[in-house]
Amino acid sequence: MSKQTETHAHAVLSDTRWASVVTRDPKADGLFYYSVKTTGVYCRPSCGARTPHPENVSFFLTPTEAERAGFRPCKRCKPDQPPLSVQHAKLVADLCRQIESAEVPPSLETLAQTAQMSTYHLHRVFKAVTGVTPRAYAAAHRAKKIRDELIQRGSVTDAIYEAGYNSNGRFYEESNRLLGMTPTSFRTGGLKAIIRFAIGQCSLGAILVAASERGVCAILIGDDPDILARDLQDRFPKADLIGGDAEFEQLVAKVVGFVEMPKRGLDLPLDICGTAFQQRVWQALREIPAGSTVSYTEIAQRIGSPKAVRAVAGACAANALAVAIPCHRVVRNNGDLSGYRWGVERKRALLEREAKG
Ligand SMILES: [Zn+2]
Repeated sequence: MSKQTETHAHAVLSDTRWASVVTRDPKADGLFYYSVKTTGVYCRPSCGARTPHPENVSFFLTPTEAERAGFRPCKRCKPDQPPLSVQHAKLVADLCRQIESAEVPPSLETLAQTAQMSTYHLHRVFKAVTGVTPRAYAAAHRAKKIRDELIQRGSVTDAIYEAGYNSNGRFYEESNRLLGMTPTSFRTGGLKAIIRFAIGQCSLGAILVAASERGVCAILIGDDPDILARDLQDRFPKADLIGGDAEFEQLVAKVVGFVEMPKRGLDLPLDICGTAFQQRVWQALREIPAGSTVSYTEIAQRIGSPKAVRAVAGACAANALAVAIPCHRVVRNNGDLSGYRWGVERKRALLEREAKG
């Protein structure tokens, strides 16, 4: 080894970034890139490729710098493309659309083909992003379709056919699994479900995120975590509430990211429980774009019940999905903020943030 090579190896070994390369630390991704002289490629710190010899390594702040120095992007970690987490989120969102639009839920193999991943890897990525498996997602989506139909049509039979089931018999067989109860007990408002939840922090204060097997069913914001937990219990008195595990934390992180930046959208299934009237109001709220506001009177008109202004305000207050059902975008006729289930200061903060874009 020449003196110069040796000095270079020393410099690399004493660089704090070297440890991130050796441990393939995903947290270091985006902070720097490293090139390998012998292969001519540059990588993200988390790249799964063999750890290079330090004397062949150089560090760069950006992919452009690495390319200017004559290195090619690694085919494995694709350092010239958006971070893996972003790529995965986009990929999974596409797969969710594929699942939603399919007559018959696509198999894991089909999805893996679309994603150009192994079935094993796809399963892991999908679960990391959504908190559920592709199969559970497909079941939840179908169940939601049925529930929407049950609510809108009020007819169990129509709902079954709309959701693509060809015989009542088969639906009843599956309904327990899909709805967590039989169709008639769902219509009468029975609810015995398992709800996982976790409480975290966001810029607006404490945030509780809860999900049933069918999707996110509560996003509650407040000052006191204990009060949030009690509020959840009051809203779902018959459900079994259990603390979320480590995997659930990823779902919470997604929801928190969405609350911080509502324009990004939330690519997770929602489990929206309410009366037919509340559902109509909430649907109208979900159609208000971020950055704009409407009045209670306008919402009442939009849902075809112009006299039900007070009931609209009641439905806003009953909303369990803060930000996802954007009741903060409803204001008084004169533009005053009026009340907010989670505190008027939070409403102001949310609206200001959205106005800035
Ligand atoms: Zn690489």
